[in-house]
Amino acid sequence: MCAGQADAKPVIYHGAAITDTRGDRLRLDVDVIVERDVVVAIEDSRTEYSPRGPAGERVIDARGATIVPGLVDCHSHLTMPGGADWVARAADPDDVQLEAAEHNARLLRQSGVRWARDVGAARARAPEGARALSLVARDRWRGDRDYPYVRAAGTWLTHASFEALREISIPVADGDGLAAAAAQQLDEGADFVKLYMDGPDADTSPFTAGEVAKVVALARSRGAKVTAHTTQLPGARAAVAGGCDALEHGWHLDVDLVAEMAATRIVLVPTLGVLESMRTFATTTSIPRFATEEDVIRLAERRERAHASVRLAHSHGVVLAVGSDFGGGSLRANQLSWEIETLAELGVPLWEALAGATWRAGDLLGEPEAGRIRVGGPADFFLVHGDPLSDARALSRVWRVA
Ligand SMILES: [Zn+2]
Repeated sequence: MCAGQADAKPVIYHGAAITDTRGDRLRLDVDVIVERDVVVAIEDSRTEYSPRGPAGERVIDARGATIVPGLVDCHSHLTMPGGADWVARAADPDDVQLEAAEHNARLLRQSGVRWARDVGAARARAPEGARALSLVARDRWRGDRDYPYVRAAGTWLTHASFEALREISIPVADGDGLAAAAAQQLDEGADFVKLYMDGPDADTSPFTAGEVAKVVALARSRGAKVTAHTTQLPGARAAVAGGCDALEHGWHLDVDLVAEMAATRIVLVPTLGVLESMRTFATTTSIPRFATEEDVIRLAERRERAHASVRLAHSHGVVLAVGSDFGGGSLRANQLSWEIETLAELGVPLWEALAGATWRAGDLLGEPEAGRIRVGGPADFFLVHGDPLSDARALSRVWRVA
């Protein structure tokens, strides 16, 4: 909703289709009435279109369009732009990263994404602002409807032996260091904790299940959740055994692990779209790590294993939440629908993929309004052309954002 809308007359979105993303059929011919940014009615459309409603409301002719709840991007990196050198961008100056966040906020808004779950940002370098830049952006934007709602994990917590992210993360030597760093993140205002469960050695988890469990207990005592980045099997095992609430990526899982995840309701945020994005770089840049035959083959193998892991998780009933990994991978902030398209190609029913980007994502965040349209709730929705329950591409055909 544009600035000043809260003071304006009620708005009637007339004659649209609507989905609550809980089933595979649209409800047709619906009027949604919005007053002061709140949904005050969702009802069958009984009148002809007229530019003004019975009480002088503005009427938007939405016949042929579909209303979708505002999406939740469950795996985002607000302060990073994505592209070919995504990790290096987290070392850009603070002001450059905060500018990237402003741009990302606009992209999110225009593409129908209302909530961003930020799973990692560099720390501000200025001593007075020594905390994650994602928290700086979140606090600047709070209460402004032109910006996404943000829940952020602060900075990545990595094992000190892992050189690749040393400059931008908080490296810790052991379990005690991990618990102390997690506590510090929460002290600085992080909404949840993100553990980086890949290390330099693919066969060894950087932290043990016991070390993870200590962080989980600490976070729980402060009302916060813990999630784990993991693309390898040992880290995934330790994260699940340690009681994390979610796995990010989960590109290498096995049957025992997905059974355990399903039983304990550990959510998987697969971020497969980023592999699709990287794949396109083989033909759009000459940078060797995308374009050489060796790299194309390595990516294809990685992608195949990731797809198999996500299929396995889904077939065992693991709850999926949907995230793009924009900024933390090559993909961009307005491309969440790419993830939904990819999940659909893997056989995940579209309504379920959409549920993972709406109300199930809200459940993961612990935010009861996120990804839902209800009478009395916020007018956080957008309109697309096409039926997103049968055609994922409809989500990228955004007409307007409420
Ligand atoms: Zn990420």
